[in-house]
Order: sequence, then C-alpha cells, then structure tokens
Amino acid sequence: MKFEVTILGSSSATPVHNRNPTAQLLNCNEKFYLIDCAEGTQQQLIKYNIKAGKIDYIFISHLHGDHYFGLIGLLSSMHLNGRVKPVKLFGPPALLEILELQFRHSETVLKFPIEFTALTADVPKVIFQNADLTVETIVLNHRIPCTGFKFSQQKRARKLIIEKLEAENIPIEYFPLLKRGLNLDLPDGTVIRNEDYTTDSEATKCYCYCSDTLADGSYLPQLKSCTLLYHEATFLHELLDRANVTHHSTALQAAEVAKQVGAQQLLIGHFSSRYKTLQPLWEEASSVFKNTVLAIEGSTITI
Ligand SMILES: [Zn+2]
Repeated sequence: MKFEVTILGSSSATPVHNRNPTAQLLNCNEKFYLIDCAEGTQQQLIKYNIKAGKIDYIFISHLHGDHYFGLIGLLSSMHLNGRVKPVKLFGPPALLEILELQFRHSETVLKFPIEFTALTADVPKVIFQNADLTVETIVLNHRIPCTGFKFSQQKRARKLIIEKLEAENIPIEYFPLLKRGLNLDLPDGTVIRNEDYTTDSEATKCYCYCSDTLADGSYLPQLKSCTLLYHEATFLHELLDRANVTHHSTALQAAEVAKQVGAQQLLIGHFSSRYKTLQPLWEEASSVFKNTVLAIEGSTITI
C-alpha cells in the first residue's frame, strides 16, 4: 500500500531562495491528505503535476500565515473548477470564520461543502479515521495554539496461506474468520489453529508531522516508534536563543527528538530565510541522527 509524502513547501515565514512556505501532500493508498497550505501551494501542485481535485482532506496546524495563506486560493480554484464533493478540513476554530469572511465579501457560494473539524491544542485527540488511517493531533508548544498530526496506518487483516488451505480442503467460507485472526472448531471436531494457516500482515507505519514548536519534549510520548518523523528545524543550534524566543526548534534539537523517540527516519524543514543553502542544517541534524533527510521541494519520501 502506498504511503508517502511529497514536499510542496519547506521555508519558514516567507517564500525565499526558490523555497515556498510550508505544505506537504501525504498519499496513503491513493487518497490525498494536504498538510498545511501556505501561499504558493496551488502553484506547487501544478508544478509537480498533482491534481488539486484529488485532495479530499486538508489539515492546518496553526494560523500563522506561512501555514495557511494558500488555502483560500486553493478552495476558490476547486470551486471554479466545479468541484462538488466535500472537502474535510481540520484546523484551529477561527479558520472557518476567516474563510467564511473572505467568501462572504466576494459573494462566493461554494459549490461543494466544507466539512470542518475545529481543533484545540490542549490534549491529543483522534480526529479522523478511515479504512487506511487514523489521524491524531499532537499538541505542540508554539506562540499561538498549534497542533501537529500523527497519521497511523490501520492494522490490516492477516494473510492466508492459500496453498495450505487448499491442500487441506478448508472451506472458503472460513477464510474471512481466519483473516480476522480467529481459531476455528469445525463440525467434525477438527481444530484449525489460526497461526498454522495465516501470517501476520505487514507492520503498520506512522508519519508524525511536528509543525512549529519549541522542542520542549512535552509531545514526545506521542511520537514513540514513529516510522517517519517530520520535525521543524528553523535554525542552526548556534541560534538556540532565537529559537527559544520564537518558539521554534534547531536542527540539533529535531535530531535529538528523533533519537529519543526511536524514529526510523527524520525529515527536517521550515528553514529560516537566513539559510541560502541547507547543507549545514542537514550536517548538524545528521551528526546526532544519521538517517536524516531535508525537506526538498518536489521530493517524495516513502514512509
Ligand atoms: Zn508558526
């Protein structure tokens, strides 16, 4: 099952050095989840040949402009392109008010519904579930309320050992029960032990998206054993004071978080405009956590 994330924007604050502010697109089993939607996100989707119409879910971490100023434009284009299917939108409570104000004053009545879920940044909550994923909020520590998002794959059914089942003429009607992990007592007294006829499904994976935050450790328990951790790394560690004042993290801190929670891979982004090249940020993080990659726009990371 496909589970990958494409970087659409990796800059903090402003578009600079050919980098756009934050947006990412998660593809899970050919369903598309947009995570943050900064200015320029539409252009990035076009550039990387991704149809905006395929996006059914949008998650906004907080109301700093570099994380959502592209949303009104994206929703307007969906409307102009004749979209009728709903968009599920998750974000801070005031987000809906902001959008409604903009649409009201342009006398726009959207052709599709926005199904809005207001997020509070107090305790972690499960905010969405479907057959592929469970999505939970991660409570971050930023200057204004801010949530990250944890996307966990659903556990799949057990896999049948078909050759063995067929060789022993086990009736097909029992297969769904075996897939669910049950043992069977057949009418003739035969006992079918599940473990003899099935194997475990693939291990589930998880993607944790930690948007803007002070690296204060408060959110670490939720990140335990995540497969891919995105953590902001706005500054090099020499600017730790600046990171503390602005409630951001350094590349070194992002790497320490990845190490402490046992992540398999670390993705860093939200780079300050002061860094024209990103190599020093990568070097700093990799010195602590080897399996680190930079959020480079247009790149896709398999989870
Ligand atoms: Zn912010």
